[in-house]
Amino acid sequence: MHRLMAELYPICRSITGEGMRQSLRRIQQEIPLKIEEVPSGTKVFDWTVPREWNIRDAYIKDASGNRVVDFKASNLHVVGYSIPINMRMTLAELRPHLHSLADRPDWIPYRTSYNLEDWGFCVTQRQLESLRDGEYQVVIDSTLEPGHLSYGELLIPGSSSDEILVSSHACHPSLCNDNLSGVVVGAAVAQAISSLPKFFSYRFLFVPGTIGAITWLARNESKTGRIKHGLVLSGLGDRSPLTYKKSRRGNAEIDRAVACVLRDSGNDFRIKEFSPHGSDERQYCSPGFNLPVGTLSRAPYGQFPEYHTSADDLDFVSANSLAEAAETILAAFDLLENNRRYLNELPKCEPHLGKRGIYKPIGHAGDKDDLGMAMLWVLNLSDGEHSVLDIAERSGMTFAAIQGAAELLLTSGLLQEAPAVLEK
Ligand code: ZN
Repeated sequence: MHRLMAELYPICRSITGEGMRQSLRRIQQEIPLKIEEVPSGTKVFDWTVPREWNIRDAYIKDASGNRVVDFKASNLHVVGYSIPINMRMTLAELRPHLHSLADRPDWIPYRTSYNLEDWGFCVTQRQLESLRDGEYQVVIDSTLEPGHLSYGELLIPGSSSDEILVSSHACHPSLCNDNLSGVVVGAAVAQAISSLPKFFSYRFLFVPGTIGAITWLARNESKTGRIKHGLVLSGLGDRSPLTYKKSRRGNAEIDRAVACVLRDSGNDFRIKEFSPHGSDERQYCSPGFNLPVGTLSRAPYGQFPEYHTSADDLDFVSANSLAEAAETILAAFDLLENNRRYLNELPKCEPHLGKRGIYKPIGHAGDKDDLGMAMLWVLNLSDGEHSVLDIAERSGMTFAAIQGAAELLLTSGLLQEAPAVLEK
């Protein structure tokens, strides 16, 4: 994942344009994504697909002809969606178009101007302070023209048409935790899922943030009823504990599944209630859709100093953090795949486990993996209404222990699978 990220890192992505396409084509080498192209001007709910932005070069040259700010050194140097410009101007004229971070003298900020016909450069505070009065040549060799918005989509079919949605934004240039971490974790999860037997179908989206999710929802509204669970992946590479933000519903099965996996992991984690601020859950959880989609991330959205700066680089992201995120997502999906309900065949008093050779003495109190205790819980709550997840939550035992006990009781003939109950 970290190697793929290192390849994607230098590409100048934006919400439209060749950088996005080039990134999607690179992900296509890992998983068989379809690249969808939606024309500029397409109405998507209250929004319109914008013109396509492409950039080849940009720089600020001093009077001696030195490139004092150079897009080729970092694509963050140009404000995203800057209109083309080729002008000579004084420092005083240039100054309002320069953005820097006074308290982080070596970091380049990341700025965009999607909705304004504007241009600008992002520079380090040191670069800004080194600019002397005089004339500068300012060039942004960009185009902003009718074209397309591109996004990547992959449906991995399971035995059911019920779907699990996994969505990552992929519209930022050289930023790692913000956008690329979700992209590479999403691709790795898709790769792993494709070789597993599965009930659910899995739909992976790699979209430009906000406008991409809105565009997908507008084009696929009739399919959204199939989405039974979903995750937005965002900011999974830093070293903070995994953080799960619940769906707008707050008690969806995905909310409980991820919470259970995090609890069972033994690692630090945080669970947050839904709020309408953040990543593309803002669209999936808008009231007209209200999909059961939560968000997996790490450091709080927008609240780490490296956020939207050049310091969100390959070193800021750890391969272990990416791996832990992918493992957590796969464990949550495995839980959803196996969250069955059972019926106790002998519900009147406890069945005699000893004569069936499956009696397990209860171990020490508080052991969340104790098989004997897990069997008691499964036998007691397997009335056809409680799922394995319900039993794990109520007992405080791990999902794996409850599932293991259920499998043992099933092979001993004490349980049968309950008929499916319709979800509310
Ligand atoms: Zn961002």
